[in-house]
Amino acid sequence: MTYEAFPGEGRHVPPCRKIVCIGRNYRGHIAEMKANEPSEPVLFLKPPSSMIGDGETIVIPEGIGRVDHEVELALMIAKGGRRIEVSRSLEHVGWVAVFNDVTARDMQSEAKRSGMPWTLSKGIDTFSPISFPVPIGEVPDIHDLGIELSVNGARRQSGNTSEMIFAPEEIIAYISRWMTLEEGDIIATGTPEGVGPMVPGDTVEARIEGVGKTTNPVRSA
Ligand code: MG
Repeated sequence: MTYEAFPGEGRHVPPCRKIVCIGRNYRGHIAEMKANEPSEPVLFLKPPSSMIGDGETIVIPEGIGRVDHEVELALMIAKGGRRIEVSRSLEHVGWVAVFNDVTARDMQSEAKRSGMPWTLSKGIDTFSPISFPVPIGEVPDIHDLGIELSVNGARRQSGNTSEMIFAPEEIIAYISRWMTLEEGDIIATGTPEGVGPMVPGDTVEARIEGVGKTTNPVRSA
């Protein structure tokens, strides 16, 4: 993993022990998934072992069907806590990054149909590309950032972090009501509309204005 070190910049972030992801946080994506708008944030976890850095390769195992991209704003916890107040929640965030919540969509759909957890569809090795984190103080306003993703140079997703149903502050407060947030934890805040498939040979670039990008080639295992 390369995201923990910033080559040549002398910056480091703590190791990640959990990635907490938010589902269904943009209305356009809820509509394209034919899902219902949640009354509370929808949470799931990805294992840190699924992370790769900018430039590393997304590897798709044989026989798993459709695999989708999902560009998301990631928040990294610098100061842990539980029962964090909404008004103080951003004090716990040290860095932000661009995250691609790669999803084995057919596996996930089958799990949903069967009423089973969709953990495997999200947790496969290399299915969490992430950009070099940027100190949150260097980003003008995390609530108003252009967020986009392209495949082979063609734009597939385009939105703004202002469109989130649950803002970063609410998400942090909600998660920490139930799970202690620890230094190094990463929170992926959901994807705007336009998710779609990636196939071996593609190059996928996820980008957030003022935060950075992660560009990852795709190959089969
Ligand atoms: Mg997602």
